[in-house]
Amino acid sequence: MIFPPLADWDRRAARRGALDGVFLLGTVEPYAYHLPSCPLTTGRRAGLMAFASEAQARAAGLRPCQRCKPHRRHAVQGDGLDVFQALSERLDRAPATVADATHLATWAGLCEPALAVILADHAHATADAWLTHKRVAFAADRLLGQAATVADACEAAGFPSARAFDRAFVVAMGMTPDAYRRLGEAPRFTLRLPADYRKAAVLAYQGRDAEGLAERTDAATVWKALGTPDGPAVVAIRFERRAAHVEVTSDHALGTASFALLHRDVRRILGLGHDIRPFEAAHPTLVAPRRGLRIPLIPRAFDALCWAIIGQQINLSFAGSLRRELIRLAGERVGDMIVHPTPDAVARIDPDELLRRRFSRAKTRYLIDTAKAIIAGDLDIEGLADGSAVEAERRLTALNGIGTWTARYVMMRIGFADAAPVGDSGLATALERLHGLDMRPDAVATARLMAAYAPWRSLASMHLWASL
Ligand SMILES: [Zn+2]
Repeated sequence: MIFPPLADWDRRAARRGALDGVFLLGTVEPYAYHLPSCPLTTGRRAGLMAFASEAQARAAGLRPCQRCKPHRRHAVQGDGLDVFQALSERLDRAPATVADATHLATWAGLCEPALAVILADHAHATADAWLTHKRVAFAADRLLGQAATVADACEAAGFPSARAFDRAFVVAMGMTPDAYRRLGEAPRFTLRLPADYRKAAVLAYQGRDAEGLAERTDAATVWKALGTPDGPAVVAIRFERRAAHVEVTSDHALGTASFALLHRDVRRILGLGHDIRPFEAAHPTLVAPRRGLRIPLIPRAFDALCWAIIGQQINLSFAGSLRRELIRLAGERVGDMIVHPTPDAVARIDPDELLRRRFSRAKTRYLIDTAKAIIAGDLDIEGLADGSAVEAERRLTALNGIGTWTARYVMMRIGFADAAPVGDSGLATALERLHGLDMRPDAVATARLMAAYAPWRSLASMHLWASL
């Protein structure tokens, strides 16, 4: 997201400093971002990059210039987090009071392009997509357990018509508002799948553990063990043409809140909810071999974080065996499967137990410290995906042992659309091949190459991995 457009700015005004704080300029040598007035940007008509925000410049791998110190100026004016949180809070409370994106911008005291930048940075979404997402979530909350009628939920969420409500709800939730309203009446539900849906990617991802403790697959079904407020359960997701039929089994009586959680988990496992068409239209060559690919998300953020910590600097099969050890050691059994351990269970593990099971000292400490930080309330791990992306990356990298790669990996697996796990060796290899480079790009070069895929860097990473 670049604002204002690169070709458009008044260079004399820029030199005067009149545009400082409005946008940022990136240079290749040094690989840094600057205030538009910085002398290091003058006389460099070619190779200058314009960035709407610090978040965008940093995502492209640039560091603040030591000379003009753009981070100081932007720190004073803020990164838009306050505005994002105020808008988010209003939409969570009363989405019908906001008519459209223009109205949202006016309420925040911003022009629409400035709002677009804030939402690109913090929500990884356009204003329209974010508004619809908030309206659907609000309506779903009202519908659950038949608390509201479909018509009342539609009106309270601020949809302009029943038809618009129905269409947006089906795209986001995989079922009609009326079907969602009855969720939990029976231990099964069905999600509609898009015409181009690729179940193979989901089956391969969920089948990655040969022993299938927490998830397993056959040719057309995924089984996943998941915790709920009422006790552990197993969802069996069976693919048929254009639909995924879900059967829930549990020894406990599950309430509607548990069903809503499992419904959300299944949507995440299936990678539904994001519109992939704009990305596919913008990058036809990259997507051609596998159109319809979506990101299979990890339904619980703590599971994603543990997997990312375990996977640091070791190969995939060793990581897989360590994950099995963790699940066996601290997970809750349900039938012949085991639910991935909760932060409580991981925090209670005796470190020696992990060391005996071939976890390094560093991994052992990172896992247990992270679990303890979550229990202490220092990190709302399961709430991250509903908040700001900038804040999520900041909070994750503040943890001991969590760097940019781990944070971005977790972010892409919990649903942020524009998070490239730079520093990933597979991603670097894929980019090296795609661009015919002489050597594997380092983290900074990877970030720079991935900037071409903004604002869809998560899905682009998925395609690049799949190209290997
Ligand atoms: Zn500078």
